Parts: sequence; structure tokens; C-alpha cells
Amino acid sequence: MTPTPPAGQLAALDASLGVVPAAGDRRRHPAPAHLVFFHGPMDCGKSTLALQVDHNQSRQGRHGLLLTQDDRSGTPQISSRVGLQRAAIELDADTDVRLLVRDRWAAGHRVDYLIVDEAQFLTGEQAEQLAELVDESHVDVYAFGLTTDFRTRLFPGTQRLFELADDVQRVQVEVLCWCGLPGLLNARVVGDAVVREGATVVVADTAPALQPAAAPAAGEATVRYQVLCRRHFSRGQLGPTPTGPGQLALR
Ligand SMILES: [Zn+2]
Repeated sequence: MTPTPPAGQLAALDASLGVVPAAGDRRRHPAPAHLVFFHGPMDCGKSTLALQVDHNQSRQGRHGLLLTQDDRSGTPQISSRVGLQRAAIELDADTDVRLLVRDRWAAGHRVDYLIVDEAQFLTGEQAEQLAELVDESHVDVYAFGLTTDFRTRLFPGTQRLFELADDVQRVQVEVLCWCGLPGLLNARVVGDAVVREGATVVVADTAPALQPAAAPAAGEATVRYQVLCRRHFSRGQLGPTPTGPGQLALR
């Protein structure tokens, strides 16, 4: 499976890029910048799309900052399953994104746009900071994140971006439930059972998310995530095999 961003989505992006003026024009005729939020379930190709948007923007001579959160690689990066990756700046809940950008400007760097991956983990305040950067500083923001947690509730950052973004797009789903229907919901699976209560965020919430959250202690069931359609999420049915057809295999 090659998670090429859907043609319709890219066409929309290209169309929007067409009206983005060059930096020099922008200062004379400040065009409104935009806050765009792309969301979907695990493994739907969000990070691939994030890197594609970055590529499209930088090809036009624009300068961007790539931000991510809860990256556990030790070297923060946005990486996709097709092997693309780029170094990124790691945010935590205390990061003021406005200061991050202003510090870059103070150091003489241009920042025309931000790519924000794992945006579901933003605090509401950080989502508001992104909106302020768009409105007051004409920085375009492209944010990418999971829609819902394993309880089918919006993540906090996702909710605030839904409320504030100029444009909200569901990434066209490439991952299917084992039954063949589009997978929309991220089920947390402990042993062989779907669980619907517990801490909102455990490490395995992000891709590569199908790995166990942590090495289980002796006698403890592993925690993993599986994308399901709504019906099979509700019924707690995981399909004939734990990683059935349409599910990405464990890496
Ligand atoms: Zn299903």
C-alpha cells in the first residue's frame, strides 16, 4: 500500500498554494494566512501528507518549521511509513509556539509556515497560539492529528483546532477495518478485548502505534491499537485475527 495523499486533497492544496503570494508581495499586500487542520485515524497517512505539504511549500521558496510532539525516537522527526522523514522541533505542553517562531525571527531566519504533526497532543492554549500566529503574524499553519482517542472522544488539541481552524479536512481513509469498511476509530486493545476507559494518552497512541505501549510485565496483557469501523468498535469485535486484512502489520 502506498499512502499517496488523495488526489482531491492535493488538488485542493495546490489550488490554495496558487494564491499564496511570494514573501515580498506578502509584505506589500499582506494576504490572510490560514490555519488548516487535517485529521484522521491512525495510519491514515497524516504524516506523509504533512511531509508532502512541507515539500510543496518549500519548493516555492518558502521557509517552514516542522513541529511534533511525543516523539520517542530521541531525534525528533516527522516520519511516514513510506520512509520519508525530516527533522522536527519537539514541543511539550509548556512550549509557547509564538515564542518559538519569534526566536527564529530574532535569529534572522524566515518562518513562512508551520507544519505541526501529532497536533492532537496540543493544549487548547497552544492551538490558540497557532491561530494568533496566523492572524497577527501571517504565518500559515498546517496541523495534522488524530481525530479521536480510544474512547471515541476528540483529543483536546483536535477539539480546539476544530473550533478555530479556517479549514478542517478529514484525511481520506486508507486504513480499513477487518470487515472492509473504512476504519474510523482507534480501538485500544488489551489482550483480546477492546477497552474504553483509562488514561487518554498512553504512548502507543501515535504511529507507529501498533506496537505495544510498553513491554508488558510478567502476566500482564499487551496494549495495542487497532483501527475499526464504528460498528465493530461498538461490538468490540476485532476480526478473525488480531491483525486481519487491511490492518498494517506490526513492525
Ligand atoms: Zn468493521
